[in-house]
Amino acid sequence: MAYQTILLFGPPGSGKGTWGDILGKVPGFFHVSTGDMFRKLAPTSEVGQLALSYIRRGELVPDEHTVALWREYMQTLIASGDFKPDEQHLVLDGLPRTRAQARMVKDDLEVVLILFLDCPDRDILVRRLQGRAVVEGREDDASEEVIHNRFRVYEQQTREILAHYPERLTQTVDVSQVPYKILMDIGQVLVKRLGAG
Ligand code: ADP
Repeated sequence: MAYQTILLFGPPGSGKGTWGDILGKVPGFFHVSTGDMFRKLAPTSEVGQLALSYIRRGELVPDEHTVALWREYMQTLIASGDFKPDEQHLVLDGLPRTRAQARMVKDDLEVVLILFLDCPDRDILVRRLQGRAVVEGREDDASEEVIHNRFRVYEQQTREILAHYPERLTQTVDVSQVPYKILMDIGQVLVKRLGAG
């Protein structure tokens, strides 16, 4: 059975993780982030070590490995009763991240909405990332050149992935607005796509 899925996309600094967590707290939704999934793997296990070796180098974990692990992770979440695919929408963040992954998960997902958290003014995102870099001591994020490179990689990847899905599935919310307005816009998109109950 394919999971009824909302795919979450957003450039670095868009607050994708924050909004994914918030949506996951709404009854009827269940949030899964592949970044969190990898971070939760025991660093002592063989799969955990393999994944960590890529993540540490800032590289993507190979497609086959990512999808196999994700499928296993979903089964664990269903078996434990945390995710109820009959009753809940899956809010998926971080997958698919490549064209190959989009092809591989085609039959696993029934994508009902692609929620694109975008910010037309890249300078706002740059300032947010630099602010976070100072707080978290992430020097890699502090350099403007590094940030712009991350945007370029992100845009290229996203374009390729979105090309796999009908355009009508994508709804964009502007994350340069105040957070309660972003929340309202996300709510409106959900009502428009999933109905008002
Ligand atoms: P970031 O946006 O910095 O990549 P994430 O939390 O989304 O942060 O992911 C952390 C790391 O986990 C990534 O850098 C990558 O190595 C790995 N990862 C997450 N999702 C995927 C995926 N779909 N395919 C391959 N690797 C992934």
